[in-house]
Amino acid sequence: MSNVSDTKLYDILGVSPSASENELKKAYRKLAKEYHPDKNPNAGDKFKEISFAYEVLTNPEKKDLYDRYGEQGLREGGCGGGGMDDIFSHIFGGGLFGFMGGQGRSRNGGRRRGEDMVHPLKVSLEDLYNGKTTKLQLSKNVLCATCNGQGGKSGAVQKCTACRGRGMRIMIRQLAPGMVQQMQSVCTDCNGEGEVISEKDRCKKCEGKKVIKEVKILEVHVDKGMKHGQKITFGGEADQAPGTEPGDIVLVLQEKEHETYKREGNDLSMTHKIGLVEALCGFHFTLKHLDGRQIVVKYPAGKVIEPGSVRVVRGEGMPQYRNPFEKGDLFIKFDVQFPENNWLSPEKLTELEDLLPTRADPPVISADAEEVELEEFVSQSSSGGHRREAYHDSSDEEGGHHGSGVQCAHQ
Ligand SMILES: [Zn+2]
Ligand SMILES: [Zn+2]
Repeated sequence: MSNVSDTKLYDILGVSPSASENELKKAYRKLAKEYHPDKNPNAGDKFKEISFAYEVLTNPEKKDLYDRYGEQGLREGGCGGGGMDDIFSHIFGGGLFGFMGGQGRSRNGGRRRGEDMVHPLKVSLEDLYNGKTTKLQLSKNVLCATCNGQGGKSGAVQKCTACRGRGMRIMIRQLAPGMVQQMQSVCTDCNGEGEVISEKDRCKKCEGKKVIKEVKILEVHVDKGMKHGQKITFGGEADQAPGTEPGDIVLVLQEKEHETYKREGNDLSMTHKIGLVEALCGFHFTLKHLDGRQIVVKYPAGKVIEPGSVRVVRGEGMPQYRNPFEKGDLFIKFDVQFPENNWLSPEKLTELEDLLPTRADPPVISADAEEVELEEFVSQSSSGGHRREAYHDSSDEEGGHHGSGVQCAHQ
């Protein structure tokens, strides 16, 4: 009669908990030969697992701890430390109650609800301006139709006897006389499922897993005016699992950066370069809008554009979500390009000066004043050396909020 609380390490070596030391040795040699990384580089951590199991089960003290208290016995007995930590959690999983998180939200009231599946969906500013219908392909678990999510013939599913269907086992450990500690761990017979299906009755289609992978195509409507970070939800379309209400598929819009327009709420902004002559004498230019329209922007002669100043075109921003005929505004910031050095002869400059607004009165210079020279200066931080940094607002050049999310498969 073996009264072992956890057989995982025995299972790794393929022996029963009553195996003799000799049998352990034999099993270890055979497996070690097969899974040694030199011979079998694709075996992953298998060799480490075998070595760990062997090391514990051939050490009388550790074997005793393990047989009596299972994983937790080893953990508290100090086997989880040092270099073995990795392989320890590889075999037994994370922390003591790690298995309780993540899966389902309520075990107590009614049906459990599955996790939502959250996917990023990259969209261009054009898509958000015009609206778009796109197809998204994803794979998800659905209940196996062959066995109706039962995992086998009806009646094939048996309650796990080791844990009486709870999926967990409770171990009582005596710390000192009259003082006990109660511990829970996942049942190893049923992997926490609480039930077992005999090999012969197992559903062939899903191999007793109750669910199969299915490719699902969702039609996604991106509405005019939707925003970065906005969610599109498909209720109950996430992974199915027996006895569980499926969660939602949630798509989170990721607005891609646009080469011309930047968006802020329902407004758009852009920078436009003009020369000094346009800045002083008026201009017109054309823009291609996000819906492909060409729009003409006019500015009359006689009105001056100061470098870095902003003008607005009302109603040419983004459409409002659910009210797309209402639109935000388009802000245009002007980058005024000045002429190069020596672009005009000294005589012409005198003529120009006569045309320009009058200079301020010259300063009064005292006799002991010192004259200094004003040199060209290129800011160290700007590689490439744009000559007129002052008109270059670098604050709106930064990456902004558009992180690069995980790409979804589009169709
Ligand atoms: Zn099935
Ligand atoms: Zn069980």
